[in-house]
Amino acid sequence: MDKLLIKNADAIVTCDGQDHIYRSWDIVTEGQKISAMGPGLHAPDAQVIDAGGCYVYPGLINTHHHLLQAFSRNIPSIQNSELFDWLMYLYKVWLRVNPEYIYYSSMTAMGEFVKFGGTTLFDQHFAFPRSSPKEIIDRQFDAAEEIGLRFHAGRSCFTRGKSKGGLPPDELVETTGEVLKDCERLVVKYHDAGEFSKRQVALAPCSPFSVDTEIMTESVKLARQLNVRSHTHLCETLDEEKYCLEVYGKRPLAWAEECGFVGEDVWYAHGIHFTDEEVAFLAGTKTGVSHNPVSNMKLASGICKVPLMLELGVPVGLAVDGSGSNDASNLLADLRVCFLLHRLNSSGKAPGAYDCLKLATTGGAAVLGRHDIGSLEPGKAADLFMINIDKLDVVGATLDPASYLCTVGYGNYVDTTIVGGRVIYTDGRLQGIDEERIKQEARKQFETLYSGEG
Ligand SMILES: [Zn+2]
Repeated sequence: MDKLLIKNADAIVTCDGQDHIYRSWDIVTEGQKISAMGPGLHAPDAQVIDAGGCYVYPGLINTHHHLLQAFSRNIPSIQNSELFDWLMYLYKVWLRVNPEYIYYSSMTAMGEFVKFGGTTLFDQHFAFPRSSPKEIIDRQFDAAEEIGLRFHAGRSCFTRGKSKGGLPPDELVETTGEVLKDCERLVVKYHDAGEFSKRQVALAPCSPFSVDTEIMTESVKLARQLNVRSHTHLCETLDEEKYCLEVYGKRPLAWAEECGFVGEDVWYAHGIHFTDEEVAFLAGTKTGVSHNPVSNMKLASGICKVPLMLELGVPVGLAVDGSGSNDASNLLADLRVCFLLHRLNSSGKAPGAYDCLKLATTGGAAVLGRHDIGSLEPGKAADLFMINIDKLDVVGATLDPASYLCTVGYGNYVDTTIVGGRVIYTDGRLQGIDEERIKQEARKQFETLYSGEG
């Protein structure tokens, strides 16, 4: 069994139930889990990692992503667009998606995520062009396995195309039957509900303006039969709210409730334009929210009521959203933005720096329904990252390790990322990955599929 002895960390920020921070402690891992923590530990057969001068944090958990957008970043003509115009442009690009494109966009974005301390990633993939083989999410699982990431795949879809009043082109639309069949296939093939699972599947119809009532109702029904979670975009923009009032005759949350798409096995991306009463409803039903501050700022969508959600007990996780509306997959950067955005907007009622870190650790674990990740304690998964703070530019900034990532911020790649007791990133390289070869192939995919756009 693989064993690690992580020696003499300057600080271990555990995010455990008592918010422990340990100074000059060690961590021993055996197989996927942490077996011991304490000062001066011995583990004779273990690989030793010197953590002197390092802070150690639980691995970051991303609760909403679109990996296909790694090749849809920094596009000149939509830099200043809001969601609907931004989507109308990008749907045309995503008509060209196929399994190889997805493999390389996933390798690109997952690799970046890991280099910034990410260890668990949920992706919502919605583009299944009629011209492409269906095995798109399969290639995401391949990429995650090669990188060593814990991966939760969201099988998304469009069922309401332009001809039926939706936003996406009809060429990207699937039938309810096609979607549910592929959802079931993916759950049977990949979903592992066990402890320390590295592969899970959620059912995730895309958004109120790109799906219909039938798929929402049938999808959540099937998810409950299969005992997997459900996810969708909700209350992202006022355009979406207007669309729901016009098409469904009700507000987005009322529509989701009518579809049965609420509850402790459901979480929504964004959740910005809820009324206070709707936030209380989320708390009462334990329906979760994935907060995406950078994306929401870039698309000028609004500010999620995170302070009220936390006060009332809504499960909240953090996320980058797709690479296209973030232009990155760097959850470390979003941590600091999350902290500063809410400080500006809510001052004394804003979540503190450590509270924001917990959104990306224990908060993310709760939203994804995981009890085995999110904190550093014996028995939990050995998912963590280390940053070296023994540097000139950090002198004078080390009084508060729990707040460090949100206040001082960390603009570099982390030093080491470990998932399930396996070092997947260290010394500036993804371990076991030929980054040069992947880079060349990824660039070819980007150039072939994106040529002519601007
Ligand atoms: Zn999204």
